[in-house]
Amino acid sequence: METVREFKDIFEKVKAGVRLDAEDGLRLIRSHNLPELGTMANFVKRRLHGRKAHFTHSININHTNICVLACKFCAFAKKKNSSEAYALSVDEIERRVRQAAAHGVWEVHIVGGLHADLRLSYYEEMLRRIKKACPGVLIQAFTAVELDFYARLERVFVEEVIERLIDAGLGGVPGGGAEIFSERARALICAPKVSAERWLQIHKLVHQAGLRSNATMLYGHVETPEERVDHMMRLRKLQDETGGFLAFVPLAFQPDHTELAHLPRTSGVTDLQVLATARLLLDNFSHIRQLWNYVDEKLIPVALEFGVDDLGGTNFDETIAKAAGAQGRGFTYEELLGFIRQCDCEPVEVNSTYTEIHKECLVV
Ligand code: SF4
Repeated sequence: METVREFKDIFEKVKAGVRLDAEDGLRLIRSHNLPELGTMANFVKRRLHGRKAHFTHSININHTNICVLACKFCAFAKKKNSSEAYALSVDEIERRVRQAAAHGVWEVHIVGGLHADLRLSYYEEMLRRIKKACPGVLIQAFTAVELDFYARLERVFVEEVIERLIDAGLGGVPGGGAEIFSERARALICAPKVSAERWLQIHKLVHQAGLRSNATMLYGHVETPEERVDHMMRLRKLQDETGGFLAFVPLAFQPDHTELAHLPRTSGVTDLQVLATARLLLDNFSHIRQLWNYVDEKLIPVALEFGVDDLGGTNFDETIAKAAGAQGRGFTYEELLGFIRQCDCEPVEVNSTYTEIHKECLVV
């Protein structure tokens, strides 16, 4: 193991299982001492997961791009009268899931815009039809922002929305919509969106209802290093209370075709600072996920040495990141397996609750 000098005090804490504080987090996230960041993050990742690299074989369905909001970082949303606007029928969604399941997909990930004409019954039917057609698939769907929107449309408490969707087949909640918790930054990039408090409250309710969820952080736009650390600290606090989060998923801002297109893409250094800091600060999160389609492919082997144990899904049909010019070219199932092995890691297929899937198929 490489020597850690600058961060000797922090590494001592990490090795002894002593919790890092926000000040430690700030030193880490600002540091250009990548060898030491990597050594420490990799130490924690190896302690938790050895050489495992988790992934899901998944289909991503974006049921509509029509959205009442217009977040400045979003290249996906369209207004109802746009020629590019769409909303999928439940029949079409079922067809896509059947087709994906025939190719071995076990995981369905569904998120979309906030469409004022789609009622809760549409989402309930969507889940029921998927579960009826393919009972074995796990459905992770609807961000906290979407759940809040459905509750307001139906004029019911969000607890009722969560309960009804679970009853219809919801198996987990994705981490989207968290963006960055700082009120200052939120006001600049997504002013009318639910507040950080509401996002956290909804995840707490999801956990109390018995589901697990993930947590994202959108970085690389107007936020400061302090605000990134604050975001992680707020997630860690809720995780202490509920234990309901599975993965932390940092998302590098993709500027193309957004109102913030003048901003540069994140550098590899920033991406690695965020990943290593997350792995070290979020001591109560089991998994750090780097979605392979959000960063340059060349960075992924390095990310796997900076705390990442999960590369997300094969995600065919993903449109949100593509709309903003995400860099990853895409992997087939076999390519992703081969890629993980080339990175000297062991590919482990899971669903979004990290239940291992037909592992025998992965043995070479
Ligand atoms: S990020 Fe989500 S809520 Fe915001 S405009 Fe895009 S689809 Fe709508």
